[in-house]
Amino acid sequence: MEYISTRGRATALSFEPTLLAGLAGDGGLYVPDHWPKLSRQTLEGFRGAGFQHVAKTVLMPFLGSDVRPERFAEIVDEAYAGFSHADIAPLVALDDGHYLLELFHGPTLAFKDVAMQLLARLMDDALRRRGQRATIVGATSGDTGGAAIEAFRGRDAVDVFILYPQGRVSDIQRMQMTTPTDANVHTLAVDGTFDDCQALVKAMFNDSEFRQEVNLAGVNSINWARVMAQTTYYFTAAAQLGSPDTPVGFSVPTGNFGDIFAGYVAAQMGLPVARLMIATNVNDILARVMQAGIYETEEVIATSSPSMDIQVSSNFERLLFELTRRDAPRVSGFMNALARDGRFEMAEDEVALMSALFDAARVDEAQTQETMRDVLKRFDMQIDPHTAVGLAAARRAVLPDGVPMVSLATAHPAKFPAAVEAAFGTGPDIPARVREMMTQPERISPVENALGAVQTFIRQNGRMG
Ligand SMILES: *Cc1c(COP(=O)(O)O)cnc(C)c1O
Repeated sequence: MEYISTRGRATALSFEPTLLAGLAGDGGLYVPDHWPKLSRQTLEGFRGAGFQHVAKTVLMPFLGSDVRPERFAEIVDEAYAGFSHADIAPLVALDDGHYLLELFHGPTLAFKDVAMQLLARLMDDALRRRGQRATIVGATSGDTGGAAIEAFRGRDAVDVFILYPQGRVSDIQRMQMTTPTDANVHTLAVDGTFDDCQALVKAMFNDSEFRQEVNLAGVNSINWARVMAQTTYYFTAAAQLGSPDTPVGFSVPTGNFGDIFAGYVAAQMGLPVARLMIATNVNDILARVMQAGIYETEEVIATSSPSMDIQVSSNFERLLFELTRRDAPRVSGFMNALARDGRFEMAEDEVALMSALFDAARVDEAQTQETMRDVLKRFDMQIDPHTAVGLAAARRAVLPDGVPMVSLATAHPAKFPAAVEAAFGTGPDIPARVREMMTQPERISPVENALGAVQTFIRQNGRMG
C-alpha cells in the first residue's frame, strides 16, 4: 500500500512516513493509491466481534509491511484499554430504525480519542524504532487538542504544541489541554479563529526549513491515520444492524470532513452504506456546495457546536480528489482558487457523483436546542449540541424502507455545559474524572496570530534544538 498526494507533486510513501509527515510536501493530503476491499465473508465475521478485532482486520491492509501484525494488535489493545465502556463505541436504539453510536467513552469524552489514542501509539512506536524525535503541532477547534495532549502526554519521542482560538472553546475543553503537567505538552491560545489556527499549522508545514529543523509531525485530521482509524466504528455499527445483508445510513456532525470521509472510506472498502448525511450547523459551506456546486467561504459564526465552526473543511480535498476521479491538477486548481478568491466551482458531474452517496443538512441553533430537548423528553437522555445537529439532520434523511439510520454521537454532554444548561435549564452531570480536573491549575501561553511568533515559541520551548 502506497500513499499519494491529492495535488500530485509529492513522492508516494508507505504507511509510516505518511503517518509521520501529516501534510504532503506539495500542500496536498495523502490518500491510499487504492482502496482495499473486504470480502463479504469478512464483513459477516464482524457480527458479534469486538471493536478491537474489527479494528485490526479493517486497518491492517492500510499499514502494508510497515508495522508487524503482532505489534499492531498490541497497539490496538493498548489504545482502547482506557475507554470507559467495554464496547468502546456502543450502539443505542432511539426511534424505530434510528440508532445513536456513542463515540465519547474515551479519556477526553469526544470521538477524537478513538483515532488519537491509536495514532499516538503508532507514531511513538515508529519514532522509537527509528531512533528519532518529532514535534507535533496541531490546531484545534476544541476537541482535537485535548485528545492529542491526552494521547501524547509523557511520551518521550514527541513534543506537542496545540493552537486553539482563544475564547472559542468550552472551559472543559480548555482545561483538558491546560491542566496536564507533562513537560512535553504546550497549549497556545491564539488571538484568532480556528481557521486562523489551521492556517498557521499549514504554514508551518509549508516552511520546509522549519519543518526539518523541528521534525514537524501533524495530528490534525489531515493526517491519514486519523481518518483511517475512524473507519472502524462504521463497520462495528453496521455489523450490529445486520450488515452486509442490509445497507445502513449514517448521519455525521461535520466540521473538517474527517469523520464523514472515514464513512466514505468504509463504503469504498465494501461496507454497504446507503447514505452519508453531512450534518452542519449554520457554518454550512458543505451544505451549500451540494446545492450549487460552489465552494465558497464565509465568515465563521460562533455556535453551541464549536467543533464544527469551520469554513474551510480540510478533508473535503480528499473527497474532491475522488469526485474528480483522482485528477490531481484539477484538485490543485481548486485549492489555488480557494486560496486566491475564497471560492471554486465544481462541475455538474462531480456534484452528481457526490449526491450519489451524500446528503447535506444545515441545522440552526434553535433546531439544535429543540432536538436536545426532544431527546431528553422522549428518551430521558442528555445529548451534546454536536450530536443534536447530527440527529436533527438524520431526521431529514430519506432512506429506503427498512434501512436503519445511525447518528454519530461525537461528544459527551458534560463537555458543553453552557449549551446543555441553555437547552435544559440545568447543567449536565459531570463525571468525577472531569470534576477532579476542574480543580487543577492551568498552563496557557497566549500568542499572536502570526507565524513568526508561533515558530519562535516552538523553538524556545521544544526539545529539538
Ligand atoms: C471534531 C468534532 C466534530 C467534527 O468532526 P470532523 O471530523 O472535523 O468533521 C464533530 N463533533 C465533535 C464533538 C468534534 O469534536
